[in-house]
Amino acid sequence: MAARGNLRDDPFLARLADQEPSAWFNPAVTTTAEGLAASELSPSIVDDAAARLDRFAPWIAQAFPETAGAQGVVESPLDAALGMQRELNLAAGQLLLKRDDILPVSGSIKARGGVHEVLEYAESLANEAGLLPSTDYRAFSSEPFRELIAQHRVVVGSTGNLGLSIGITAAALGLRATVHMSTHAQAWKEELLRSLGVEVVEHSTDYTAAVEAGRTAAQADPATHFVDDEHSVSLFAGYAVAGRRLARQLTDQGITVDEDHPLFVDLPCGIGGAPGGVAYGLKLEFGDSVHCVFAEPTAAPCMMLGVYTGLHDEISVAELGLDTHTVADGLAVGRPSGFVGRHMQGLIDGYYTVTDPRLKALVKALYATEGILVEPSAAASLEGSQWIASNARYLQRMNLTDQHLQNATHIAWLTGGDMVPDEIQRGYLS
Ligand SMILES: *Cc1c(COP(=O)(O)O)cnc(C)c1O
Repeated sequence: MAARGNLRDDPFLARLADQEPSAWFNPAVTTTAEGLAASELSPSIVDDAAARLDRFAPWIAQAFPETAGAQGVVESPLDAALGMQRELNLAAGQLLLKRDDILPVSGSIKARGGVHEVLEYAESLANEAGLLPSTDYRAFSSEPFRELIAQHRVVVGSTGNLGLSIGITAAALGLRATVHMSTHAQAWKEELLRSLGVEVVEHSTDYTAAVEAGRTAAQADPATHFVDDEHSVSLFAGYAVAGRRLARQLTDQGITVDEDHPLFVDLPCGIGGAPGGVAYGLKLEFGDSVHCVFAEPTAAPCMMLGVYTGLHDEISVAELGLDTHTVADGLAVGRPSGFVGRHMQGLIDGYYTVTDPRLKALVKALYATEGILVEPSAAASLEGSQWIASNARYLQRMNLTDQHLQNATHIAWLTGGDMVPDEIQRGYLS
């Protein structure tokens, strides 16, 4: 790669700086076994998170009635999308949509990690106070718990959706919450949080600075838990539970994933925690048969830049002259999670970027073909199958033949949309 300060000498980085839609498939991708070892994480974190979500399920079913039909399991459908598949000219294999845009609680993928971390904190408070319920976690709605929990606070920095998932869960528990919002956060997300009694601190800075402000504020107060989007294992583990849930859904739908039937999963990436956690969970389930690819806006390709240069969180897209201004507000992050970049890079096959006009076109096309209205961040996932199918070098290196592509399942992970107010949704379509 180019020497630092001379990034434009590298033709690929010059493309990124010019906001040309680009893909990079990492030649240093490793086997699942090596990649999982390099992650330095124990798969037991996912078992623990899944067990915790099970323990809390009766409480979740009560606190969020939309989950009652699923007995308090916060999960989203996995749907075929023949119309969108035709629209994308995806001839080989099958396109499925993972509908985290309608994930209960907060209408985005953040409900996976955020709900889990807040529940883990509440559980630890109850444990320290000697109040842990022996069986029925609906006790978290009763007086002694609420009194205890109301003396504590969670703090988080967010571009919007993480703040929503943390704030909504905290409010349901009676836990106080402060959300530090970066400059790109949408006003309706702030208003919704304030209406729940969540304190919102607006910053006129980018995401990294908003997170830092949250971290500093939280450190000053021992009754406060900081949700660290850059490093949190609890968030990561909550996201990773998606792997086993997806495996069950595929089995139920009679879809095979194995050496001859590869699974490609395209995940919109901001700081990297959500797609990194989901990818970890997928690798635990499907091993080398699953191929994870991250999607980023051309204005904020932070994970691609960090992994490509090997500098991870020591480089920001600002060094390419990019300002992270994008219609994909959930992905408007200039500096990636160093944890995900350093420890997960061997497990992520590739990265691609999408322009704002293309994101808007994909939002419209998905609505026209499937009647599904997502936020622009989520639509970034829809282009992965094309980058994959057209990259002969990548396919050859991974020993993926035409027959594999015929047998393949592509999943576009639709990461958010349900809470977007109607008038803003209509704006995406006009
Ligand atoms: C946060 C978010 C992502 C990406 O998650 P990161 O953990 O920031 O990488 C993708 N899509 C939507 C809609 C999001 O809100």
